[in-house]
Amino acid sequence: MYPAARVATTYNQAEPRYFPVYIWTGLAVDPLISAAAFVLGLAFGSFLNVCIYRMPRGMSVVRPGSACPQCGERIRFYDNLPVLSWVFLRGRCRRCSAPITPRYAVVELLTGLLFLVCYGHFGPSLGTLKCAVLGFLLLGLIFTDAETHLLPDKLTLPGLAFGLVISLFVPVNDLASLLLPGVFQVPVSSDISWRLFSLIDALLGSAVGASFLYGVGAIYLRWRGVEGMGFGDVKLMAMLGAFLGLRLTMLTILAASLAGSLFGLWTVFVVWVKRTARRKQLFHESGRAARRRAWASAQVALRRHQMPFGVFLGATGLLAFFFGQQFLRWYWRSL
Ligand SMILES: [Zn+2]
Repeated sequence: MYPAARVATTYNQAEPRYFPVYIWTGLAVDPLISAAAFVLGLAFGSFLNVCIYRMPRGMSVVRPGSACPQCGERIRFYDNLPVLSWVFLRGRCRRCSAPITPRYAVVELLTGLLFLVCYGHFGPSLGTLKCAVLGFLLLGLIFTDAETHLLPDKLTLPGLAFGLVISLFVPVNDLASLLLPGVFQVPVSSDISWRLFSLIDALLGSAVGASFLYGVGAIYLRWRGVEGMGFGDVKLMAMLGAFLGLRLTMLTILAASLAGSLFGLWTVFVVWVKRTARRKQLFHESGRAARRRAWASAQVALRRHQMPFGVFLGATGLLAFFFGQQFLRWYWRSL
């Protein structure tokens, strides 16, 4: 068998498995390492919270130590334990009782679970490292985009570099890896060639994904006169493409657009229903007039509202990384 394919079946998500079961078997085989992965994830999640707060504000993520944004009190190490401290302090600052957003505990818990899932899915291999880094970056980007509508270069650009480098060690297993060996008739034992093809796959995913988003953004700007897609989304897609390869990149863009559109429609619908009720109550309008006017104002609201598209790209990209190959295989088979 060609080495790329062999390595790919060991590292990549080639084997269809029932996902939760695999995590539990991983836990049973390696309870200690699994627990360590989870705790490491909690710690990285804690650091991620610092990044989410500080990066969009142009602050250093290293200095100074964490402090309460309300009263400026330095947060002691025993009040800085992931998840636990937030629960014990009931989501409030110890000194001034200012509320602390549950996002801190949520991000920590999600990162912990993600590291656990990575280990359960890929075992003791570089695949786990690739998966954990991708998940870490995406969680940071998703929450930063949701809160500030920014996707910091400090996360996307190092992520892009890492994605390209790791493709030399963990096969991306996409079109180039599947097609090129046959074209070039490379020797079966060639270790260099699978790494080269894998890198080509990462570059292809990155370049095509970024150009595609850039093109759509440019068309949208011409058409609507407002920026629908920021350059941050383009860089996020460049990063994702390097991890995913071309096919999963296109799948991600497709799924994210679909999810984003559904979310947009849902938002308009909710705003419409709320405003209709308010018009009826405040202005005593008839049902029909209230619905019509509320519909018009809901559409204006949507146009002004900037959707954090990075949230959808990040979430679907992570799903594609875990389940994309299985999904595509299932899709081709059912055609
Ligand atoms: Zn405080």
